[in-house]
Amino acid sequence: MLSVSRLYQLLTHAYAAIPEHLFRGGYSFPPLRVAFILTHRCNLQCRFCMVWSSYQKERKKGIKRQELSLEEIKGVIDQLPGYSVITFTGGEPFLRRELMEIVRYSTKKHRCHIVTNGTICNEEEIEEITARRVSSILGKGVLSVGISIEAVGEVHDKIVGIPGSFDKTLRTIKTFQQEKSKRGSRYPLIDLKITIGDYNFSSLRELYDLALDFKVDLCSFQVLNTQSSSYGIEDNNPLAHLTPPKPFTPINSDLLQEQLRYLAERSVKAFTKVRFNPNMPLAEVVNYYLNRVELSKFSCHTPWHTMHIGPYGEVYPCFSYSMGNVRKKKISEIWNGKNYKRFRKELRKEGVFPGCAGCCIMEYKG
Ligand code: SF4
Ligand code: SF4
Repeated sequence: MLSVSRLYQLLTHAYAAIPEHLFRGGYSFPPLRVAFILTHRCNLQCRFCMVWSSYQKERKKGIKRQELSLEEIKGVIDQLPGYSVITFTGGEPFLRRELMEIVRYSTKKHRCHIVTNGTICNEEEIEEITARRVSSILGKGVLSVGISIEAVGEVHDKIVGIPGSFDKTLRTIKTFQQEKSKRGSRYPLIDLKITIGDYNFSSLRELYDLALDFKVDLCSFQVLNTQSSSYGIEDNNPLAHLTPPKPFTPINSDLLQEQLRYLAERSVKAFTKVRFNPNMPLAEVVNYYLNRVELSKFSCHTPWHTMHIGPYGEVYPCFSYSMGNVRKKKISEIWNGKNYKRFRKELRKEGVFPGCAGCCIMEYKG
């Protein structure tokens, strides 16, 4: 029998495939998923992350930009169909003091996800988010909370650059689980987000064991993306999509394989499921870190179903190419405007671009 999440995946695929194949001009149905990158600010400094570092570079150059206000965000939400699923992420979204107001507003009509590093949300916020959960996978409310965690204990703190972060993140995971169990609820799903890098790949087992102890719902292991042009990070390369990301330095592939195998085997019968992003066989994950990714095995339909809105209102398909700004145009004008249509047409021709290697939302077709 099909699981609900697999069914949802197939529906998303069909939602994108119909306009992709029917309308050759690049037209698409309204966005099924919308991700608000609410801020580029972050209280952590993860060593692999370009969001906080590019924000700091901008500040040093004296560049200051105005993030979308609460009213502007509400105005965008009002333009979305009720079936659009909204993600709030960053940077660290809890640095936006209006976050809870944004969550209250959006959950009236939409299913939502929140992605955080779990270090600065307080107990009241966790309680309210849990109270605003969906009652079923198709209901309105908060469906999941993604919490980024990179390793256990001091190793995590070293990766994220701020001592004491691990304990704070762990406290957040624990508090969410307590709130859920108080209410006897499955939702919001707690999804630990782990980026695999040479700094943590030898301790993935340990991290998964911790997730099992806390009975979180999901561990999403994503490959490290070294693409410097993504979701509004400053990058002036107009041909970023044709530019392969930086290669990795050699890794101990046997050790990585052993760790991945443990995760895959252990998760078959465990409550905490494991997902790899992109969703591909373990051997391909190892190949990726050996710089042997074969792009012909992947495809992408994301620009037909998902829109990303940066902190300053620019809309991005994925690379930092502006498709238009929500301060100047309606969502429908941007979504089916000439920039988006051109990008979709080019992607349909190519399957995926050389610059896509490392994107965690590529689809594996084998
Ligand atoms: S918590 Fe997220 S946004 Fe912040 S530095 Fe780490 S990866 Fe980047
Ligand atoms: S696979 Fe490429 S085109 Fe598709 S979302 Fe990722 S970066 Fe964009």
